[in-house]
Amino acid sequence: MARAHLVCGGYPAGATAGHDMDYARRRLLELLEPWQTTVSNDFTDLAKYLPQCELLVTYVAGPFLTPEQADEVEHWMETGGRWVALHGTSGGKAARIPDSKRRKMVRQEHHRALGAFFLNHPPLAQFTVDVASSSLTEGVPASFDVQDEMYLIEVQDPSVEVLLTTKMSKDPSPEGFGFAYDKDTSVGPDGETRVLGYRRPVGKGSVIYYALGHCHSQATNMQPIVDPSVSDDGRSPPQFRGPWASKEYTQLLRNALAA
Ligand SMILES: [Zn+2]
Repeated sequence: MARAHLVCGGYPAGATAGHDMDYARRRLLELLEPWQTTVSNDFTDLAKYLPQCELLVTYVAGPFLTPEQADEVEHWMETGGRWVALHGTSGGKAARIPDSKRRKMVRQEHHRALGAFFLNHPPLAQFTVDVASSSLTEGVPASFDVQDEMYLIEVQDPSVEVLLTTKMSKDPSPEGFGFAYDKDTSVGPDGETRVLGYRRPVGKGSVIYYALGHCHSQATNMQPIVDPSVSDDGRSPPQFRGPWASKEYTQLLRNALAA
């Protein structure tokens, strides 16, 4: 039986970091049923498991690869390893801006290996996802609507095969919401197209990244407000499973894990 390693957790160790990690872990383990799967909450013990695995799946909010681990994972992909990375995997460490209450994400070697760097997300909203034609998007319509955090991600590698995009000309975040960033490098040359999913070939292997995937429970919710397209009164729903409740996201995950 082929082996997979799932990393699902927040930072600091054991924290949920605004996500229903238990729910995501259960859903991912269900989808990983055909695999013999080991599970960790972060990357600290990655070297113990990765060499025996064909597949690495990550759903994290805070944990990121050290520079040495980023090299290890890239080497593992070069020799055929497949990494399926979701949602907060493009984040990592945020640094406080001097003389400010705001924080800004810090680019790491982790983002080079992954191929994406998270800038910010506006409040949870409903938006349309456009889907490119690929074996990885088989069974998914050319576009679908989803409620989720729309991640603004800066793609690090121009050679990626873009799978999912959305259109939004300007980050609608209210003043002071989320993370600060210098320049919106997530928007394409047309001023509105943003990448939300891609496959990055690395040697004989690859990394597939889908920015979609927010979920929280009442106990783990950290979203102060949401867009009226999610909730009329702008209050964050006590339980939010967004894309996890959609057949399109499930199909994308099935395809990615099987590819
Ligand atoms: Zn989230």
